[in-house]
Amino acid sequence: MNKEYAPPEWAFEFHGHRCPFMPIGYRMGKLAMKSLGVEHEKDHGLFVFPEIGEGHPQTCMMDGMQIATGATYGKLLMAKTFYGKLAATFYHPQKGAVRYSLKPEFIDAMGKFEFFGYRKKGIEPSQIPEKIADEVIGWIDSQPDDFIFKVEPKPDFRFTPAKGSFNKAKCSQCGEYVFERYVRTKDGQPTCIPCSGYGK
Ligand SMILES: [Zn+2]
Ligand SMILES: [Zn+2]
Repeated sequence: MNKEYAPPEWAFEFHGHRCPFMPIGYRMGKLAMKSLGVEHEKDHGLFVFPEIGEGHPQTCMMDGMQIATGATYGKLLMAKTFYGKLAATFYHPQKGAVRYSLKPEFIDAMGKFEFFGYRKKGIEPSQIPEKIADEVIGWIDSQPDDFIFKVEPKPDFRFTPAKGSFNKAKCSQCGEYVFERYVRTKDGQPTCIPCSGYGK
């Protein structure tokens, strides 16, 4: 496999353990960047919308996507749809959008590796022998892109990010700063959401 699609060692360190899904997300991110013609995102240009939900074990993919693309959760460039699917749409307003998903045949073939036997017994990835983890990671590395990923251009995909603002107010109750769009009014005074007693 082309090594540019394998995560650097620091990515495993950042992620915390050796598992197959972080590297899959990394490769997905790298391929999507190439397909859109974008570089690692320095600022706020590239967005990633993973369809991954919660309560299933493949969520590690999202760390790989963030590491590869620079479209991070902290920069508000990643937002989950919670569809519970192994897919993500990569979107750049000037370059368009492309959706990558894992093919069912690939998922089935990967599921036969011993790594998942350990996982199904409830053993955490960091407790699985490295040899067992590297076996499945190495196998994935040797598979061609088109066996792993379905790729769909999404020419009609649109997304408008929230408009940035530096305006803030001090909450009349707790005295902490709260940014404009989150300021609520209680008894005529500006308050933060927790102090207001209102829902969002
Ligand atoms: Zn993981
Ligand atoms: Zn407050």
